[in-house]
Amino acid sequence: MPIYLYKCKNCESEFEKLVRLNDTPDCPACESRDLERQFTAPAISTKKTRDRSFSKARAVAMNTKKEKDHAQAEYERNYIKDHS
Ligand SMILES: [Zn+2]
Repeated sequence: MPIYLYKCKNCESEFEKLVRLNDTPDCPACESRDLERQFTAPAISTKKTRDRSFSKARAVAMNTKKEKDHAQAEYERNYIKDHS
């Protein structure tokens, strides 16, 4: 069975789906069936790519969280300064 990459035209989320021939999946995020098939990728390289992009995405997410925590701390510091 091929794995297809789909993009939801309704909520713009992208996802991979294992589909049978002529089977139309629905969006896992919003259950819309208004999807755009992006391309077919062989299963083996897809897994590698996914692992790599996953750890990259996780690193980005952690950085974003760190920045958010930092901004929050900064905000609290300024707030205390302004209100004391
Ligand atoms: Zn969707």
